[in-house]
Amino acid sequence: MNPLPQNTLLGMDRADLLSLMGSLGEPPYRANQILDAVYRQRVDSADKISTLPQQLRAKLVEASVVVGLPRIEQRFLSQDGTVRYLIGFPDGQSVETVWMPEGDGGEADEGLETISPADSSGRGWSRATICVSSQVGCAVDCQFCLTALLGVKRNLSAGEIAGQVLAVLNDQNVSPQHDRVNLVFMGMGEPFLNYDNFIKAVRLLVHEAGLAESRMTVSTAGIVPRIPQFGQEVIRPRLAISLNASNNNLRSRLMPLNNKWNLEMLMAAAREFPLRNRERVTFEYVLLQGVNDSRENAREVVELLRGIRARVNLIALNPGPGIAFATPDADAVAAFQQILRDAGILTFVRRPRGRDIFAACGQLKRTVEIATSPAL
Ligand code: SAH
Repeated sequence: MNPLPQNTLLGMDRADLLSLMGSLGEPPYRANQILDAVYRQRVDSADKISTLPQQLRAKLVEASVVVGLPRIEQRFLSQDGTVRYLIGFPDGQSVETVWMPEGDGGEADEGLETISPADSSGRGWSRATICVSSQVGCAVDCQFCLTALLGVKRNLSAGEIAGQVLAVLNDQNVSPQHDRVNLVFMGMGEPFLNYDNFIKAVRLLVHEAGLAESRMTVSTAGIVPRIPQFGQEVIRPRLAISLNASNNNLRSRLMPLNNKWNLEMLMAAAREFPLRNRERVTFEYVLLQGVNDSRENAREVVELLRGIRARVNLIALNPGPGIAFATPDADAVAAFQQILRDAGILTFVRRPRGRDIFAACGQLKRTVEIATSPAL
């Protein structure tokens, strides 16, 4: 049932395909034809690659070569236009991928774009963001996040990571060449604990699918040794770091990985991160009522960020069953934001997207029983 990875076209890069074509006695330019069919035309089976001669298509099918586009198993539509996709793989595992027309406000180009350009597409949106998963479940165990409750089941392959994007683009009938599509690697899982597959997927999406790296952001909970490595990549998304607490005591309580990589290590890596022209490091901060949302916490964040070209995204907790924290009210969020702004830090409040369908930050845990979920 589960095709061998080497028989799955999605996830293969140019080098992989050149060696496959070589082993089949085919000329190298076949690799380009396959890359174009898989990543730009987004065909779902090898026999549909119309640029290949019939004979080669038959040969591929005979060798059980599949494209490996993941299957959309379910769609949940939010009142705000967000769609949460349940996407399945041949081994029966599944992840969630979220489509957010208009972006989510938090990922606008470095906050410069406060007003979306008028929608001229006639589709009702002018840009969209896809939130991509990197693992089935997550091992990091952040106390406020529903994905943590799943534990980690397995890593996704590069093809499965890129495949989520292609499946959603197909479903929305969108072409990244013509429409503004942002990607955030902020779905299920910790991308920096599946680093090689994540970065291979990025390269495929940039080189072969034609998405812009400047429109991609990856978020890490703080796998510190991967941060300098990521900084050396020639092709890389922007970096976001889930800060979520203003001192080590608090952060270790909320995010146990802080016991391994504490704030001093994390902030040193952030400070040394090689930023590009006009680029900033984004820090996400989930506000938990009465836990990390005081004025004192805000002042500590200001101190932590000194000397870093930073941008802060505040996220009021998205609640969920089994999460023992409460969402602060809008006034508390605004007061926190004001302290950061008064200190000269570019700070935004992320608008929650798709809370009603469990699609918002920290809510991805493959919830299927929407009707029986508590009202949010
Ligand atoms: N593992 C990576 C990628 C996931 S990004 C990371 O932690 O960065 C998910 C973002 O949602 C993180 O910034 C996280 O702090 C935030 N988040 C997690 N649970 C949340 C919740 N219940 N409400 C709001 N934001 C949450």
